[in-house]
Amino acid sequence: MAGPSTGDLPFLPYGRQSVDEEDIAAVAAVLRGDWLTQGPAVSAFERALAARVGAADAVACANGTAALRLAYAALGIGPGDAVVVPSNTFLATASAARHAGAEVAFADVDPDSGLMGVAEAEAAIDRAAKAGWRVRALAPVHYAGQTAPMDGLAALARAEGLALVEDAAHAIGTVDVSGGREVPVGAGRPEVEAGSLTVFSFHPVKTIAAGEGGAVTGGDPALMARVRRLCNHGMMRTPDPGEGFADPDAALDAEGNANPWYYEMAEPGFNHRLSDIHAALVLSQLGRLDRFVERRARLMALYAERLAPLAPLVRPPALVPWCRPAWHLCAARIDFAAAGRNRAAVMAALRALGVGTQVHYIPVHRQPYWRRRYGDLALPGAMSHYAQTLSLPLFPAMADTDVDRVAAALERVLS
Ligand SMILES: *Cc1c(COP(=O)(O)O)cnc(C)c1O
Repeated sequence: MAGPSTGDLPFLPYGRQSVDEEDIAAVAAVLRGDWLTQGPAVSAFERALAARVGAADAVACANGTAALRLAYAALGIGPGDAVVVPSNTFLATASAARHAGAEVAFADVDPDSGLMGVAEAEAAIDRAAKAGWRVRALAPVHYAGQTAPMDGLAALARAEGLALVEDAAHAIGTVDVSGGREVPVGAGRPEVEAGSLTVFSFHPVKTIAAGEGGAVTGGDPALMARVRRLCNHGMMRTPDPGEGFADPDAALDAEGNANPWYYEMAEPGFNHRLSDIHAALVLSQLGRLDRFVERRARLMALYAERLAPLAPLVRPPALVPWCRPAWHLCAARIDFAAAGRNRAAVMAALRALGVGTQVHYIPVHRQPYWRRRYGDLALPGAMSHYAQTLSLPLFPAMADTDVDRVAAALERVLS
């Protein structure tokens, strides 16, 4: 990412990928091989990802948005249904539900952590019921790398008969440590009978990069078979577990084996496949996930130290006790009003000092499309989070001294 000149010091974007020679060699090997797509790199990545996150199965797909779309579709979510989505998220968590024909019941978030809690989800369910929508799923977002309170949300989903779609675009490598157990994000919640799926994104600003890439993980074989089928045109070349082909006369030869050309479409699907080129890159990156997570944790610890003298004007992200985060964002909290500087001016001044920042997120319920659809919702936690948030540079190639640079720049700009 290019930025303004800052003397000898490189510009620090808020996030960026770390690609090494091994990654490049892995991609080049695919380019020299037989399979650019639908080949062994995709299945190798799916197996490695499932193993890494403790899920029975993983389906790789084109990006995180496609992963959300596949998850909602596999759960059979459609018109008349609603999905509970926290307003503090990227557009896609909500848009993918709308593409499925569903309504979005926007939930508020904790103003400090930016996470949807149980009370916020319950309030959204109540509002959806008043609107006459049939709520089908909770879609908590593991903002910045910390998980939403999943014990409570899974219990709520179970009690209300709702599915869980965890948007873990920010949280590959995060471990839920509530209740004394260690559950990696992606393992899902088997106790949620209506279905439990987790989605990931491998966009270059996320913790591991495919270029464009995503995945759905889960443990229910029938649900995951549907995700896999929907990802590839709804095509079945082997019969559904337990069900067989719908048209056995056309499907099977005299011995009862599937004809070699045969495929069946049970429902219209998408082409949301990941290519082997992208799969090779993200598989190679997955091998370095632990190192990335460790480096990000170290940088966050340094931020906590270096930002401490700037309190209360600047505070590091609020920590929640129930997870060991793989930090995606350093979403600092800044009291712009008390500093007497507006955010645009602060961002411009930091940029001039070589420090890139970003805002995660404009509450999605404030987008013109959603305001036209639902009017002006009052979600004060999301608005308060939005008013104070500023994501500071965080990526594994940053040096310890870069954190000093960011803290010094903030001090200069805010004082
Ligand atoms: C990045 C992101 C997505 C979408 O992922 P893409 O791979 O960019 O399609 C969805 N949800 C959240 C929270 C994200 O950060």
